[in-house]
Amino acid sequence: MPTAVRILEKVSRAMQRVILQGSDDLCAHCQQEIKFNPKRRTRTRVICNVYVDGRWVRVELYHPQCYGRAGNPYGPVQRTP
Ligand SMILES: [Zn+2]
Repeated sequence: MPTAVRILEKVSRAMQRVILQGSDDLCAHCQQEIKFNPKRRTRTRVICNVYVDGRWVRVELYHPQCYGRAGNPYGPVQRTP
């Protein structure tokens, strides 16, 4: 009996990353720019790789608070050290 090939299913996931200065990405929830803001200490954004049927389709970006308000559409945010 051959060992069954395990298919690693690609699923949508959300990661928290530092905002790059000069970036002008739009939040998928509030449609506002996600900017580095030292006054508000907004230093991170949520990046979601969205997969449909195991295929990567797009990236969505969120403010961390907006991702929570949107109901964590791609699961809990994975924080990277
Ligand atoms: Zn937002």
